[in-house]
Amino acid sequence: PYAAIGVEINVDYVTAVAVDLSGERLLSWRRSFSGATSSVSQAVVAVAGLVRRVTNRMAKEERQVLGVTVGVPGLVGTDGTVLIAPNLGWRDADLAGDLTKALRDPGFGVQIDNDANLAALAEHRFGPQAGTANLVYLTGEIGVGAGIILDGRLRRGARGYGGEIGHIQLDPLGAECRCGRLGCLEAVAGIGAVLQHAALSPAEVEIEIEEVVRLARSGERRTLDLLAAVGHNLGKGVSVIANLLNPEVVILGGYYVPLAPWLLPAVGEEMRGRTIAPDGGGCRVVASTLGYGAAALGGAARVLDTVDSGRLPRPS
Ligand code: BGC
Ligand code: ZN
Repeated sequence: PYAAIGVEINVDYVTAVAVDLSGERLLSWRRSFSGATSSVSQAVVAVAGLVRRVTNRMAKEERQVLGVTVGVPGLVGTDGTVLIAPNLGWRDADLAGDLTKALRDPGFGVQIDNDANLAALAEHRFGPQAGTANLVYLTGEIGVGAGIILDGRLRRGARGYGGEIGHIQLDPLGAECRCGRLGCLEAVAGIGAVLQHAALSPAEVEIEIEEVVRLARSGERRTLDLLAAVGHNLGKGVSVIANLLNPEVVILGGYYVPLAPWLLPAVGEEMRGRTIAPDGGGCRVVASTLGYGAAALGGAARVLDTVDSGRLPRPS
């Protein structure tokens, strides 16, 4: 039997998923990771270690690994290198090359892709909206990025740098973004805008989000106002997507999922006010059900795509 592996590097964690040929999840692991303070080579060590553990497990199950795709929170070029990962502070990194070296001739291919692109692939193949021809996935992390599927295909643009909705300017006087600009969508509608704690350690993000959910449930005014404000900013971004691309659905992922009950009403209001087509052109906005491993699962899906195109190696 075979296995396809997907990994996601995030600002605060690293996830690995392995699936079989039918897409059944064989394992799903998550480790905390200090993305904001890690260099490319530190990330390579962390990811290679995780991949090695997954491949060892697969070997024990007598599964042949078909390949690994690693999702990165940044711009991944068609040349396979990372141009910029703003929230990791990386520029011009050959992550796939470095990983292949660190894994010492692993016997399978290692490729990288943008995290939002991979999550969109996962939704398109495995999610409740699977097969939807026009679908956009929005990451709800420290960074906000879009994975765009139009007419059934992932769209990357000329050099692979499309979908960077997180860096459109919503507010010229808004908070500074890690890309160096002011008032980017992710600075005013990303998870950083919800947490608003300057020096939050990565491992604390999840706990903090749980606390925000608890306060919102109890009806605490300040939290409700904050989530409404973030929801309105997010809604402005989603309206841009609806006006520009007219997808059937925009799927909110990452930490937007637990916050969706408080974000969605504001998003809906913005959509009604801002999209020129009535009803937002039929665009629904929903929370992802694939969990935090969506991009990693999409990484495995991308490996399976190469298999689908008829390149299944002989079992060794
Ligand atoms: C990056 C995107 C990425 C998103 C989510 C943004 O800051 O520019 O490439 O998809 O964060 O991680
Ligand atoms: Zn920015």
